[in-house]
Amino acid sequence: MAKSRPSSPDTLAAHLGRDSKFSQGFVNLPVYHGSTVLFDTYEELEISHENRNKMNQIAYGRYGTPLSFALEQSVAELEGAYGGITTSSGLAAITSSLMAFVGSGDHILVTDSVYKPTRSFCDSLLKRFGVETTYYDPLIGDGISNLIRPNSKIIFLESPGSQTFEIQDIPAITSSARARGVVTLLDNTWATPIYLKPFELGVDVSIHAATKYITGHSDAMLGVITTTEEHYYTVRDSVRLNGQCAGPDTMFLGLRGLRTMPTRLRQHYESGMIVAKWLSERPEVARVIHPALPGDAGYEIWKRDFSGASGLFAFILNPVSTSAVAALVDNAKLFGIGYSWGGFESLLIPFDPSDYRTATKWEAEGPALRMHVGLESTDDLIADLEVGFEAMNLRE
Ligand SMILES: *Cc1c(COP(=O)(O)O)cnc(C)c1O
Repeated sequence: MAKSRPSSPDTLAAHLGRDSKFSQGFVNLPVYHGSTVLFDTYEELEISHENRNKMNQIAYGRYGTPLSFALEQSVAELEGAYGGITTSSGLAAITSSLMAFVGSGDHILVTDSVYKPTRSFCDSLLKRFGVETTYYDPLIGDGISNLIRPNSKIIFLESPGSQTFEIQDIPAITSSARARGVVTLLDNTWATPIYLKPFELGVDVSIHAATKYITGHSDAMLGVITTTEEHYYTVRDSVRLNGQCAGPDTMFLGLRGLRTMPTRLRQHYESGMIVAKWLSERPEVARVIHPALPGDAGYEIWKRDFSGASGLFAFILNPVSTSAVAALVDNAKLFGIGYSWGGFESLLIPFDPSDYRTATKWEAEGPALRMHVGLESTDDLIADLEVGFEAMNLRE
C-alpha cells in the first residue's frame, strides 16, 4: 500500500492484500493448498499455541492461510470493518453468524424480506435448538423497539430485501437495537462492501455471499463475514466451532474477483438503470422495483444510505398467463434462467414470495420476475427483451 493510504475503492481493490512476503514478487498471492503446518522447533509450536486466538496466525489449514487472511483483510478494509472471516458459502456465513449470538431460550428478529434459505435455517435448525424467530416488516424502522423482548439477541436485516427489494431504515433499526443491547446482523450481498458502509450505520456484523459480485464470474461458492472489533472473535469462534473454511482455489477466485469489482459494479449499476427505465416504459410492465429509480418506494432511503446500486432488481407484469411469462423467459435468449446472480451474465427468473411471508403480505398486479443485468451491451439486452415481449404478447 502507498503511504498516503488512498480510500477510493478502485485503488484499494487493486492494492489490498498483496503482501510481497507471501507473493515473492508476483503480482498475486499463490494458492496455499495445505492442512498441516510444520513448526521448526518444540518452542515454536508452544508459541503458536499461545497465539492461537490472535488474528492471522498460521497454525493449521482450517484456521487460515496467507491467502484467506489477504481476502478477509481486503474485504474488511473496503467495507470499513475491523476484520473479516471466510466461509464455504454465503449461507454458511449467515448460519455461523446467527449461531454466534444465540442459545436455547433466546429470541431473534428477522426481516420478512430475508433470503429464503436464511428463513429456512431459522425455522428448522434454530427452532430445534430452542431459538424463537419473529419475522418483522422490513419497513418497520424504529417500530422494531416494540418487538424487542428481554431475551432478544439478534436483529437480522437485509437491504434491499431478497426478490422484493424493500429498502430498510438501517440506522433507525440499529439505534433501537443498541439501546436495548441487541446485536444487528446485515446481509449486505446486494450492495457489496462498496455501495453500502454498514458499520457507519451502526451494524455490528455484515455478511456477504461472495459467490455473487465479489467472485463475480459465477464460478465459485464463497462467504465472507465482516465485523466490528467487539464482535470479531465471537463470530470467528462460531465459524471455527462449525468447522467452516473456504477452499483455497475458491478464495483465489474471490480475491481475483475483488480486484475488478468496483469497475464491474459501475457497469452493472449503469446498465441495470438503463434496462430498468426501459422496462418501466413497457406497456406489459405494471411496475419496476429498483431502489435507485426515482419514485421507487425505497428511493429516498437508498439515496441517503447507499452510494450505488447493483444490477439486480425486479419487475411486475400486468396480469398474463403463466404460458405468456414462459414465452418471455424462454425467448429472451441472452438472459439465463437460473438461481444466484452477480456474475458477468444476465439472468431472468420468476418469483413468488406469497406463500412463505408471514409478517407482510406480498401483493402484486401480476407475475413477478427478478432480473440480473450483466455486462453485455444494453442495446443487445433490450433488443433481446423486445423479442421476448413479442413472443409473450402472442400467447393467451
Ligand atoms: C445468494 C445469497 C446468499 C447465499 O449465498 P450462497 O453463496 O449461495 O450460499 C445469501 N444472501 C443473499 C442475499 C443471496 O443472494
